[in-house]
Amino acid sequence: MKHNKNLILWIELVFALLSLLVLKIVGSYPEHAMITLKFYIFSMIILTTVLVLSVRYYQKQHSTVDVDRICEMVQKIDVPAFIWSDDLSVMFANQAMDELLGIHEDDDEIDNMILLSNFFHSISISPKEAGNVLIGRTLKTGFISKNGKKRHIAWTTSVLKKNDTVSLLFSIGFETTELENAKQELIKNAQDLMISQTRYDLSMKLSGIGFLLCETDRQEYYVSEEAMKILGITENRISFHQFRKKIHQNDRIKFDDYLAKICNTPVSNTDSRQRVMELRIWRHNKYVWYAYQYHENLVNKDGKPIIGGSLIDITNEKRKDAKIKNLAYNDKVTGIANRNKLMSDGEKLYQMAKEAETQGYRYRYWVIVLDIDRFHIINDSCGYEKGDKFLKAFAHILCEYTASNGTVARISADNFALILQSYDDDDGEPARTIEKIREAMGELAKEEFSSVSLSCSAGFASMPTKDSKDFKEVLEHAEFALAVGKGELSYLMGYDAKMHQEILYQGEMEKSLSEAIEKHYLQLYYQPKVDIHTEKIIGAEALVRWIRPDGTMISPNVFIPIAEKAGMISAISHFVLCEACEQTAIWQKLGLSKIVMSINFASGDFYQTNVCEVVQNQLDKVGLDPKYLELELTERLALGDINYTVQQMNALRDMGILLAMDDFGTGYSSLSYIQLLPLTLLKLDRSFIIEIETDKVAQEIVSAVIKIAKSMDMETIAEGVEYQPQAEILKKMGCDYIQGYLYGKPMPPAEFQKRLEINTYGKELLS
Ligand code: C2E
Ligand code: CA
Ligand code: CA
Repeated sequence: MKHNKNLILWIELVFALLSLLVLKIVGSYPEHAMITLKFYIFSMIILTTVLVLSVRYYQKQHSTVDVDRICEMVQKIDVPAFIWSDDLSVMFANQAMDELLGIHEDDDEIDNMILLSNFFHSISISPKEAGNVLIGRTLKTGFISKNGKKRHIAWTTSVLKKNDTVSLLFSIGFETTELENAKQELIKNAQDLMISQTRYDLSMKLSGIGFLLCETDRQEYYVSEEAMKILGITENRISFHQFRKKIHQNDRIKFDDYLAKICNTPVSNTDSRQRVMELRIWRHNKYVWYAYQYHENLVNKDGKPIIGGSLIDITNEKRKDAKIKNLAYNDKVTGIANRNKLMSDGEKLYQMAKEAETQGYRYRYWVIVLDIDRFHIINDSCGYEKGDKFLKAFAHILCEYTASNGTVARISADNFALILQSYDDDDGEPARTIEKIREAMGELAKEEFSSVSLSCSAGFASMPTKDSKDFKEVLEHAEFALAVGKGELSYLMGYDAKMHQEILYQGEMEKSLSEAIEKHYLQLYYQPKVDIHTEKIIGAEALVRWIRPDGTMISPNVFIPIAEKAGMISAISHFVLCEACEQTAIWQKLGLSKIVMSINFASGDFYQTNVCEVVQNQLDKVGLDPKYLELELTERLALGDINYTVQQMNALRDMGILLAMDDFGTGYSSLSYIQLLPLTLLKLDRSFIIEIETDKVAQEIVSAVIKIAKSMDMETIAEGVEYQPQAEILKKMGCDYIQGYLYGKPMPPAEFQKRLEINTYGKELLS
C-alpha cells in the first residue's frame, strides 16, 4: 500500500512540472498562444482525466486504508485477530492468532488451509461468498489447542475495504470456551434431568407408586399422577379430609394418630427413619391394601413439617401373607385353627396370665384335649369324604360351645383341643362342657350316620399352674390325662400332678423303670383267649402292669407310650418276652393245656436287627416250641419300611412263630396292605365289638373282614367281648376266637393258672 501512495505523489509531481513547462512555452509564442493554450488545456483535461481515472482505478484496486497502521493496531490486540481477503488469503494475523493456531513466530505465513478449514468446516459456501456470509454475523469455531483441549472462538468480521474484485476483511475472535463449556454442561444436565425425569415417570408408572405431598398449613395434598389414579381423582390436589374419607374405617385411627403426631411433635433432625403404615384405600369399587411410606421428620425450607408419603399397592403381599398364615395356622379339613395356631395362642394366653398374676390379677384357663372314639369306623365304612365331613361338623360343635371365650383347634387326625377361660374358678366347667359336646356329637352322628353311635373322650388341665412352665407343658398334661382316662376306661379325666410324678421325666423314668423291672414292680397279667365254639382257653395275651409299692397300678396305656418315646420299650419287651415264655413253658411242664402265648411287640422292637435271634434264644432257654408263641403287631409297622417288615416277618414265620395283627381297623392300613404280610391272625379291635349288637355298619365291617381273612388263610379273634350276645353274633359271622371280659379280665399268673387247670381238667374234676 505504501508503494501505491508514492506512485500517486510521483504522478502529481510530473503533472506540475508539465504545467510549468507549458506555461513557459505559451509565453514565447503569443500568436499561437490561444491555439496552444486551447491545445494545452485540452491535453491537460485529457491528462487529468486519465490521471484521475488511473488514480481512481488504482485507488479502487488498492485500499486507501492505512493497512500498516491497522496491522500495528491489530498486533496489539490480545485476542486472536487477522486481516484477510476474500480470496481466502490471510494478509496479517496477530500473535494471539498465531498462538491459537500453534504457529511459531518465525513462520511468516499462516497456513491458509488451516484457517479455511477452521472457518468454513461448518458452512458449505464457496470461498468467494465467504466475506458476504461472514459479515454481520458471528461465526463459532473450535480449535484444539496444544494441550489437547478444545477452545471455542466466536468470530466477528467487518470489511476494511471493498471493491468489485477484492475485499479486505478484518476478523476478530472472542474466546467463548468457558461459556461454551458451561453451556454444554447445562445441556448435559438438562438432558440428564430429562432422562431421569422420564425414567422417574416411567418407574412411577411401572411400580404403581403414587405420591402425596403437603405442607401442614395448606391442609391439602399435592397428588402425583399415579396417586391420582389410585385415588380416582382428576385434579392433582386432595384435601386431608377427602383423603381420610378414602381410608378404610378401621385404618383411620392409625392415620389420625400419624397426622396428630406429625403436626404436634416438634421436628428433630435426629430421627428420620422411614416408616410404613398399611392402609386400605377405596379404589374404584373396593378397598385395596397400600403401604403408605413416610418420614416423620420431613420439613420445608422454612422448617415447617411436610406431610407426605408414597402409596404402594401391597395387595399381592397381603394375599400371600394371608395364604401363608392360613397354611401355617389353619386346618385344611375343618377350617379351624391347627396345632401351630393353638400353640401360639395358648402360649400368649399363658404368658399373659402369668404376667397378670404378678400384678395381683388372676386369670385361669382350661385346656381340654378331645379324642373321637372309634373314629376310624366312619372312615372305614363310609369313606374318607364322610369322615372329613364329620370332622368338620364336629369342629363346628366345638366352636359353638366355646365361641365366646375360647380357642378351638384340630391337633391331629381325630384329636381336638379347646382353651376355655374359667370365669368363676369352677372346677366343674370342663366336665359340663364335655357333656354338652358329647350330647351334640351323639345327635350329629345320628343325623349323619343313622346306625353308628359315636362318642368322645377328653383329658384336661388348667393353666397357669405351678407344675407347668409354659403352654406346651399344659397341653401335654391334658393329653396325658386323656391317655390315663382311656386306660381306665373313663371318658373324662382331669390332670393331676400326682398322676405321673414318678414317670414323667425321662431321667427319672429310666431310673424308675429299671428299678421297676429289677424289683418286680413290672408284672405280667394274662387274659384268656377262648375258642368261640368250645369256649375253651386256647391262648393268653400277656399284658404288662406296673404295680407300685403302695399297691397302685399304672396302666400300660400311660407308661408304654412314654417308654417308647424315651427309647426304653425294648427293656420292657425283653422282660415281657422272657417272663411270658418262661411262664408258658412252666404251665406246659405242669401238664396244663398247651396254650399260645401272645405278647405285644412295639414297632420299635420289630426294627431291632437281631429280633429273631433274641426270640430264638429265649425259646431255647425255656424249651418252648415256637408254635406256642404269637407276636401281636400293630399297623404302625406300616409306617416303616415295608420291604424290611415283610422280610423280618417272614424270618419269624420261618422260625414257626405266629404273627397277629393287633387292633385291626383302628389304623389306616387297608386289607390289601395286610395281604402283603405273612400274618396268621387278625385281631378285630374292641371298638367294632362294643357296638356290634346295634351298629349295622360295624356288623358289616366285622363280617366282611372275617370273610376276607378266611380267604387269606388267616384266623380271626375279636377283642373286648364283654357280653354273650356279642359272642353269639361273632360266632354266626364265623369268627374263630374271642378275648374279653366275658371270659376273663387280664389276671395275675396264679389266677390264670387256676383257669388253665379248669380248662385242662374240667371244673368238676378240680372241685
Ligand atoms: P391291647 O394290646 O389292645 O390290649 C388289649 C387291651 O384291652 C388291654 O388293656 C385289655 O385289658 C383290654 N381289654 C381286653 N378285653 C377287654 C374288654 O372286654 N373290655 C375292655 N374294656 N377292655 C378289654 P391293657 O392291659 O390296659 O393294655 C392296654 C394297651 O397297652 C394294650 O392294648 C397294648 O397296646 C399295651 N400293652 C400292654 N401290655 C403291653 C406290653 O407288654 N408290650 C407292649 N408293647 N404294649 C403293651
Ligand atoms: Ca394286644
Ligand atoms: Ca388290641
